[in-house]
Amino acid sequence: VSRKLFLNARIFTPKDEGKPLRGKGQGALLSFERGALLVEGGIIKEAGPEDEVLSRLSPSEVEERVDLEGRCVVPGFVDPHTHMCFVGTREEEFAMRLRGATYMEILQAGGGILSTVRAVRSSPREALLEWTRRNVRKALSMGTTTVEIKSGYGLDPETELAMLEVISRIPSELPVDVVPTFMGAHAFPPEFKDRKEAYVDLICDEMLPRVASQGIARFCDVFCENGVFDLEQTERILRRAQELGLGAKMHADEIEDMGGAKLAAKLRVKSADHLLAASEEGLRAMAEAEVVGVLLPATALSLRKPFADARRMIDLGVPVAISTDCNPGSSYCESMPLVFALSVLRMGMSPEEALVASTLNAAHAVGMASLVGSLEPGKQADFLVLDGKTPAALAYRLGSAPVRMVYKRGELVHVSD
Ligand SMILES: [Zn+2]
Repeated sequence: VSRKLFLNARIFTPKDEGKPLRGKGQGALLSFERGALLVEGGIIKEAGPEDEVLSRLSPSEVEERVDLEGRCVVPGFVDPHTHMCFVGTREEEFAMRLRGATYMEILQAGGGILSTVRAVRSSPREALLEWTRRNVRKALSMGTTTVEIKSGYGLDPETELAMLEVISRIPSELPVDVVPTFMGAHAFPPEFKDRKEAYVDLICDEMLPRVASQGIARFCDVFCENGVFDLEQTERILRRAQELGLGAKMHADEIEDMGGAKLAAKLRVKSADHLLAASEEGLRAMAEAEVVGVLLPATALSLRKPFADARRMIDLGVPVAISTDCNPGSSYCESMPLVFALSVLRMGMSPEEALVASTLNAAHAVGMASLVGSLEPGKQADFLVLDGKTPAALAYRLGSAPVRMVYKRGELVHVSD
């Protein structure tokens, strides 16, 4: 195994304590002014002050030395909530939305999520793979080294499974870790619009067992919202998923307070996402159950809605993560640096809190924290070299993604100039 030593790095990293960081802990970082990382076979062996790491090494033990020239080094981003597997854009719909069209007008003009469902159902597998690969490659170039990707534009057993197959092929084509999530409960397909319970039966009795037996997804997610999946349907689907060994996630309380956050706490899901309208009672229950709240500020930006109140959530003790929600409708955004900047500038988070939210807490939200999310011995050497001295550069250099280099398992996988 090759041993590499990265020197002269200003390292900033969360410290993993086996669970998501919350409250005052959300902003706690370790930092080494002149730090070093020793990497063996892609795994961090040592991380700490350069002189300490060097004092424990004999020069013959290292094959390669890399001088990071005093630049800021942070863990690779973990994007814990995306719908990056799709074909076709919805730019016309976006333009209609900017002109003030309502959701119903967009739907009647053939837009909305069901237009992407039609596109994915009729797409050749190769085209779906090509679009997904392009989206993930863009995310990687801006520092995302681990990404969760949901199905949910098939809404029938064959297309949902085909999406999950495409998603699970990405790591053999690009240097990223991918967490596949089954989201058959993203919307009701047109053929079931008057038979909603029958679609929930199809998910529970056929789709989930097939997904679980193929081992092709780690999580099951449900869009719990008024007019989509109600609390009862959400609970039924997620309990079935948990019985089958899948982790559970929810899109909760995005548009109105349905009690989604409370249900998330009751089911002890890994994460409840969006939360723009979540009640204080629901947030307190999530804090108690240590459910990660995943906030999606690029979606609020694109929809021109108010941002989630991250400050209040952190103060209530909810562990907060942030994500792009990359999807063709409400947020075609692959950029974690943009999401980081919005979190700091519009959601009341400090740069330290946003770094924890985009790395370690995001890793906990997708069940990957034993491998990624912080720069500590035993984890993968997934890290970013920034144009800047501190993580605040990610919000300061607005819109330009100041990510100079991306390393995945100790290998340089992207350089920007
Ligand atoms: Zn989503």
